[in-house]
Amino acid sequence: MPHTQIAIDGPAGAGKSTIAKLVASELGFIYIDTGAMYRAITLKALRLKIDLNNEEAFSFIYETNFSFKDGTLFMDGEDVSRAIREDDVSKNVSLVASYISVRKELVNIQQDLADDKDVVMDGRDIGYHVLPNADYKYYLTASIEKRAERRFHDNLSRGIKSDMDTIKEEIRRRDHFDSNREYTPLKKADDAKVIDTSHLAIDEVVGLIIQNVREEEVYGF
Ligand code: C5P
Repeated sequence: MPHTQIAIDGPAGAGKSTIAKLVASELGFIYIDTGAMYRAITLKALRLKIDLNNEEAFSFIYETNFSFKDGTLFMDGEDVSRAIREDDVSKNVSLVASYISVRKELVNIQQDLADDKDVVMDGRDIGYHVLPNADYKYYLTASIEKRAERRFHDNLSRGIKSDMDTIKEEIRRRDHFDSNREYTPLKKADDAKVIDTSHLAIDEVVGLIIQNVREEEVYGF
């Protein structure tokens, strides 16, 4: 049976996870949040108290198990969805995600998870690297103000209080680091459709994507 893959990339706070999750649920697809996986590895490294500057210390990744249940990430059987949003993880995740060995292993797992399934996968390198043959590719952007505002409310809904200026600074720093790392940086796939979500409600973006997918499925354009 042919399967359909949807890749969604973009900078921090552009609404990727919320939108990808809703698109997946509307279409009955599996949702894979790759940012959550980089965050989970960072969380585990912090818990193990290893030296975050030493890439070799991350070999524990080969004994780490990941699974998704209804879009929620479980690491080694534990629901880590809340713990991976803590400040300490957000501050360090880009460094961890810049290690080639970490990326290669996580990309292998991501490709396995997506193999032969209908999936929506979001991240930074999905459209041009993880799923280069995805049927649909989108690149979501938004102004820094809007992105910080969304992250602020996102955190609140998760019970995490944060400061707007700190969030803005962290988003800027993370985007810079993610866009400038050498190996598979944050980048738009050449054939991805760009959606600026600054002035759109989440539901409108979800609607645009669903409409686009359904039209192409039916009319082939
Ligand atoms: O999507 P989210 O903001 O939770 O991602 C956290 C971090 O994980 C990003 O800032 C980036 O450093 C890393 N990441 C990545 N490649 C992906 C997904 C996330 O490098 N495909």
